[in-house]
Amino acid sequence: MGTLEESVTLAARLTTQIRSRGPIPLSDFMAACLFDPEHGFYRRQSAIGRDGAFTTAPEISQMFGEIIGAWLVKVWQDQGRPSPIALVELGPGHGTMMSDILRTVSHCPEFCRACCLFLVETSTEMRAVQQKKLSTVDPVWIEDIGELPDLPLFLVANEFFDALPIRQFRRTGIGWNEIRVGIDRTGLVLCETPCGRDIEPRGRDADTIPGDIVEIRPASLTIAAEISKTIREFGGTALIIDYGAHRSLGQTLQAVKDHRFTNPLAEPGEADISAHVDFGAIRHAAQGVSCSVLLNQGVWLELLGITERARILARNLSGESLRQHQAAHRRLTHPDEMGSLFKVMSLYPSEMSPPPGFS
Ligand code: SAH
Repeated sequence: MGTLEESVTLAARLTTQIRSRGPIPLSDFMAACLFDPEHGFYRRQSAIGRDGAFTTAPEISQMFGEIIGAWLVKVWQDQGRPSPIALVELGPGHGTMMSDILRTVSHCPEFCRACCLFLVETSTEMRAVQQKKLSTVDPVWIEDIGELPDLPLFLVANEFFDALPIRQFRRTGIGWNEIRVGIDRTGLVLCETPCGRDIEPRGRDADTIPGDIVEIRPASLTIAAEISKTIREFGGTALIIDYGAHRSLGQTLQAVKDHRFTNPLAEPGEADISAHVDFGAIRHAAQGVSCSVLLNQGVWLELLGITERARILARNLSGESLRQHQAAHRRLTHPDEMGSLFKVMSLYPSEMSPPPGFS
């Protein structure tokens, strides 16, 4: 028997809300699933990694963060070694990538001396994990990129943008419908309602036909505009790695629990929920800076020498650990694994040449 004090599940709370106010945009549903103060998925310290719901590239191999660390130092050198700079990670998860980056950049003390480290993280639980992992340095945590000081910006974001809430629209014969979360007798369901001209996908009439679904991620546009403003004024670079494509076409909302796909509506707050990143929209929102070509993660890592690094690390390994190391290299780079689904894009000052790996 439950008690009166027992907390209401997120599904029950959303159902009550929808019953009284009508269907909600997917962005509200996603935000509740991920960030609800009581039930949000990112309230769990164990969300990411082999024991969590899903694994990310830095959790697969130290090589990922090492390559990015070496890349950051090179870009910083190419930009004339500015000092001080803001070294920033968006959504650091367990802090693994930043820990690998910092170990790598320690070979360049001048870069380390220039760095003020900022971690953009909303979840207090994730912050605690990051603090433990990065206990030898002194990061500053912020909630919003707008809180950064006026400094050259060296920013990295792996699997951050995919977690930002999306809205979904379906083209009809006469306009666009918004796909929302409503309820029926079985529980939460997707439903479609006509949407006003003010929120429908702009500029997508030319490359879609009736029936097509397009996703929009408002927060990603604000963040891309903010990043580009800082790079335009103070210099620096941003490296964005995520799964996605040149443009949004088709439904990509997905939920992952215990490393398996599950129905996103089935257990709000219990699964990681995300959607493909529309890199074209980020490029469009990043005004006044150059944007690199969009590369497949596998190609980019190969161009930056992951295979040489893998060989060096393999010298000290044998048996099962060697097998795991080889599998990790394959997982990060092979087109059948993360190599081509994941994409890499960089923003940089318009007067500079493209950063390493993008030229
Ligand atoms: N980059 C990490 C973790 C990816 S999971 C890795 O590759 O392993 C997404 C991370 O972004 C989590 O730490 C989550 O708490 C954080 N996050 C998601 N949305 C955020 C937002 N709007 N602002 C700040 N942090 C956010």
